[in-house]
Order: sequence, then structure tokens, then C-alpha cells
Amino acid sequence: MSALEIVRIPVLSDNYVWLVHDPDSKATMVVDPAVADPVLEAASARSWTITDIWNTHWHPDHTGGNAAIKEAAKAWGGCTITGPAAEFARIPTLDVQVKGGDRVMLGAHLAEVWDVPAHTAGHIAYHFAQDEAIFVGDTMFAMGCGRLFEGTAEQMFANMQQFAALDDATRVYCAHEYTLSNARFAVTVDPDNGALVDRLAAVEAARAAGEPTVPTTIGAERATNPFLRAPTAAELGRIRALKDAA
Ligand code: ZN
Ligand code: FE
Repeated sequence: MSALEIVRIPVLSDNYVWLVHDPDSKATMVVDPAVADPVLEAASARSWTITDIWNTHWHPDHTGGNAAIKEAAKAWGGCTITGPAAEFARIPTLDVQVKGGDRVMLGAHLAEVWDVPAHTAGHIAYHFAQDEAIFVGDTMFAMGCGRLFEGTAEQMFANMQQFAALDDATRVYCAHEYTLSNARFAVTVDPDNGALVDRLAAVEAARAAGEPTVPTTIGAERATNPFLRAPTAAELGRIRALKDAA
């Protein structure tokens, strides 16, 4: 089985759409298309045809391109849109509704669906265990976590514990370039963490050079992400509130 090819497509002000291609089956999937045109262009530049869209949650900056990509895909046999069953009412373009424990395939590559409520009530993640990759939407970011729009600190803490149990090498594909802001906040709540101080410097250099900082890895997050490292839900809630006010 060939490795998945994963392409980062920066759109809007700070969103990342992920284009995921299986060279064996030629299946090509898009995670959270905020918009359609840059995604269709990125696929066509590689002579790939989009066969699937996987949404993590209903927010328009994750689903806004669904309908136009599906329309364009009629030219090559169509594409199937998969997303959270609990948010079906808010993602009317969904063809397939999934929930935690379900399995979805891209060619022969298997992803398990995780329920990760808190940013939105029905938020899901897609974990490719064998490929050591997880698409987390707006649940976790490099050195950060999503805002608690429709859930609690307890739920987000449970999500972080689930992520923390993955292998260090697992690549984490999040949906925004929030890393610099997150790193600057993280050092204020964990100032004695040398790995975090070093990472802030590296991220400042990368962003100054216009380079992306995502994907991250579980290992890097375990070392530096104050939300993943929070010992209790109460502590996660405390620092989330501080970040919201920052
Ligand atoms: Zn969101
Ligand atoms: Fe978002």
C-alpha cells in the first residue's frame, strides 16, 4: 500500500484545507473545504479528481466549498460528502453521516471516526492509524485547542486525553495557522518549559519567512501544548478562558 500524499492548501486568512490522495486507487479526498476554487485548482494541477469530501464540523470555513466541489465533480463521476451525523441539519450537503467508532475508507486506507465535541457539539476527527495521521479540524491546533463554542472544558479535556494517547510520530493536521499566536500565549502559562520556549523561537522564524507550521505531531504537542498538558479539565478551562480574553 503506497503512502497517502497530503497537500496543504492555504485559503481565506488562516485556514488550511487538506487534499489527500491515494496513489493506488487514485481516490482523492478533501478535508474541510472552506472554499472550492483553490481546492479544484490544486487537484487539477496534479491531475487528480476529487472523489470525496470529509467534513469535521459544520462551520462555514470548513464546509463552504462542499456544494461547488460536488457540482464540479459531476464532470468525473461525482464525489461523496461525509461528515458528522450530529450536524446533518447544519451541513445539508452531506451524503454520508458518521459518528464516533465508524470507519471510512480512502482507497485501502482506513480512518476511524472519533467524536470530539466541544468546539461544536458534533465535531468529529478522522484518524488514519496505519498512516499515523489525524485530521482534527478545529479541536486541536499547534500549541492550542479550539474555542468551546458548543461544549465544555470537560469535553475538550477528554478530547485532549484521547489525542495524547496516540504515538508521538502521529502527524496532526489542523485547520488553521494559529501557531504563532498560540505559542506566544502558551509561554505565558508555561514559562519554564524549555521545549516551548525553543518552539516559540522556531515558529517566529518560520512565520517571518512565510513558512507554514502545520502539520504538527503528537510528540511536539505533548511537549509544548498547554491544553494537551493540562492535568485537569478545570485547568484546561482556566487557560482556555485566559486565551479567550487575550
Ligand atoms: Zn470551527
Ligand atoms: Fe475553523
